[in-house]
Amino acid sequence: MSDSLQKITDRNKRIVFFGGAGVSTESGIPDFRSVDGLYNQKYDFPPEEILSSGFFYSQTEYFYNFYRDKMLCLDAKPNAAHLKLAEMEKAGKLSCVVTQNIDGLHQAAGSKTVYELHGSVHRNYCLKCGHFFDAEYILNSKGVPKCSCGGTIKPDVVLYGENLDEETIENSVKAISKADCLIIAGTSLAVYPAAGFVNYFRGDDLVLINKTPTPMDRSASLVIHGKVGEELGKIKV
Ligand code: NAD
Repeated sequence: MSDSLQKITDRNKRIVFFGGAGVSTESGIPDFRSVDGLYNQKYDFPPEEILSSGFFYSQTEYFYNFYRDKMLCLDAKPNAAHLKLAEMEKAGKLSCVVTQNIDGLHQAAGSKTVYELHGSVHRNYCLKCGHFFDAEYILNSKGVPKCSCGGTIKPDVVLYGENLDEETIENSVKAISKADCLIIAGTSLAVYPAAGFVNYFRGDDLVLINKTPTPMDRSASLVIHGKVGEELGKIKV
């Protein structure tokens, strides 16, 4: 019989958490691939097409209508998963969070070392002069948000077809390869290159918490098919 999540988190000190959109569904932000996820809602295009670099530059207004409606969830609050991870970091058990999410909820919960592989909705910049804008500015804008210099504003999120930030990759890979325990949660592990980073893990305790099976289930020492907030919330730090 495999050890419990409590036993595994008790015995490890360099835990890394690798998460995806499923970490924030309990905060009310839809993921892509669940039954009520964005893939199963009616749009003229699939979400990954709208959130691609080519689409951003060719149909900027459509992009922003979708983005404001579905990706800018500024009222969402951290859930039990975000809060527990922040508590674990403070207690010296968790080295960092590596996330594919762009919602900023780990930082809102108090996590300090968060590697955002796909950027953040909270940073936006003018393509012409580089001036930065917060997420509220984008939410309150109409049509295509513009800078006072006339330039178009782009969210600092990695759109499909764009490269990930080199330093963020390096930090994430380094942390995962040094970890003694890796907890992967709330991700279908379908989006590359991010999903491939978990292969750098060399430790003994690989934990997978996801509502549905993932391609890594067979490699994990503990697989929990459940809700990440509920499961992490039970851990006593
Ligand atoms: P995904 O939608 O492909 O997969 C989410 C997975 O999480 C699914 O397997 C689902 O079964 C599982 N899941 C959903 N709710 C869960 C819960 N409460 N507990 C445990 N498991 C749960 O998401 P992905 O793998 O992160 O890839 C989608 C891409 O979309 C990512 O690159 C991410 O950047 C982006 N995205 C981000 C957000 C966000 O920032 N909150 C939201 C949607 C999409």
